[in-house]
Amino acid sequence: MTDQLDANAALAQRDLRHIWHPCTQMHDHQHVPMVPIVRGEGPWLIDAQGRRYLDGISSWWTNLFGHANPRIAAALAEQARTLEHVIFAGFTHPVAIELAEQLVQITPPGLEKVFFADNGSAAVEVALKMSFHYWLNQGHGEKTRFIALTGSYHGETLGALSVSDVALYRKTYAPLLLTPILAPSPDAYEAEPGESPEQVATRRLEAMRILLERHAHETCAVIVEPLVQCAGGMRMHHPSYLTGLRALCDHYGVHFIADEIAVGFGRTGTLFACEQAHVAPDFMCLSKGLTGGTLPLSAVLTTQHVYDAFYAEYNAGKAFLHSHSYTGNPLACRAALETLAIFRDEPVLERNRMLSAHLAKRLASLRDHPNVADVRQRGMIAAVELVADKATRRDFPAEERRGLRVYLHGLEHGALLRPLGNVIYVMPPYVVGESEIDHLVDVAVTGIARAVKDD
Ligand SMILES: *Cc1c(COP(=O)(O)O)cnc(C)c1O
Repeated sequence: MTDQLDANAALAQRDLRHIWHPCTQMHDHQHVPMVPIVRGEGPWLIDAQGRRYLDGISSWWTNLFGHANPRIAAALAEQARTLEHVIFAGFTHPVAIELAEQLVQITPPGLEKVFFADNGSAAVEVALKMSFHYWLNQGHGEKTRFIALTGSYHGETLGALSVSDVALYRKTYAPLLLTPILAPSPDAYEAEPGESPEQVATRRLEAMRILLERHAHETCAVIVEPLVQCAGGMRMHHPSYLTGLRALCDHYGVHFIADEIAVGFGRTGTLFACEQAHVAPDFMCLSKGLTGGTLPLSAVLTTQHVYDAFYAEYNAGKAFLHSHSYTGNPLACRAALETLAIFRDEPVLERNRMLSAHLAKRLASLRDHPNVADVRQRGMIAAVELVADKATRRDFPAEERRGLRVYLHGLEHGALLRPLGNVIYVMPPYVVGESEIDHLVDVAVTGIARAVKDD
């Protein structure tokens, strides 16, 4: 037993000697344990001591069908023995071709062209550059700006961070960034008393209309996270906002970029969130769930019309010369194909509807909690807003790090919950059962009880 106990500690110690982790103040690891995971099994992660953690956040929203998924693993093994990588300029391969065909099939109508990249932020960079470059190629070099929503998150490379509005990530680097035009989010949490989510959407569309009236001439695109602003605190809005936004973008001649990196592949109840608003964007960014959570890959889908604006004799200088070394990586594409095959072979969305209903039922009791201002859900994403005072919605001061207490409580009780500030949420892999949802909710509820106590 001592050996096993030491196994976690030994790995953590070696890790901390050389590794600099993402999204982490490394000093925290003086008191927050580093958890070495040696194995995954369905929705479970298993550490070096054999302790199991239910992955309540799909390992940063990537995993769909469980860790070490046997179907994806087998496909990958076979692909690794066939073709692991090939330059994607001048060369192609059947797996990327098949994947592009299938993505065009399953995404909203009008998206006909697929540009591959290797992570979400890179996809956002591609969409921003393509949109700007489209207008330039059309003789509109004066369009150099982007409209983003308050509370939005689109990644952390400089371009993607530029159109993000989460102060925690953005503030430090602001001097390096493009200045987007910020439009107020249709976030239903910000409703006026008595206002419905749909009415918030209508009011925010009017604000967007006014911004477009003033700025459309210098604006390339509006970029949004359809239905759920995830990193900004799982804030949700009514689909009518997207329908209205599509009409505004058409009217004012700016592109609509749908960043479905987090919400795509069934998270919100439909395969893509845009479907709930019956809209097709000019650009759709996909990543995270695209490979079922096994390998980094992203794709930007766009229209034939956008593509045609770049298509010209070489010396016209209109080509989109963006590239990444691992563009269209065959292993990643193969994992994506197998993921899409699972969607075809199994009633994933139907099953998710049952799981979502169960999750909703189990979370309902939290609505009456004196420190819970909001319980919201869209499909397989559910979030609880912790506040110091329910009546005024006064927040707990960020320095108190109440969410971190829930995280630590989760680790003690076999669940990976990683709150966003004071927002506790679950976004589990689709292979959880009802009893596993119960476990996540139980740990969240007891964790919240502990986190709100004064100490
Ligand atoms: C995670 C995320 C990104 C960035 O993806 P990375 O692969 O982490 O760079 C972009 N947009 C949204 C909406 C995301 O949730």
